[in-house]
Amino acid sequence: MLDELACVCDAEGCERRLTDEECMLVYRTPAGKRRAYECACGAVTVTVGR
Ligand SMILES: [Zn+2]
Repeated sequence: MLDELACVCDAEGCERRLTDEECMLVYRTPAGKRRAYECACGAVTVTVGR
């Protein structure tokens, strides 16, 4: 069960937990729904959900 998918910043050494409030963009692709998060460190992390 991936009910609460832990989303963590991609930047090396950051590993900050990203919250829904930091979700800047949601878009759909054939592979699923993607979310782009912008961390306070400036890195953008994209996750693939369903
Ligand atoms: Zn970060």
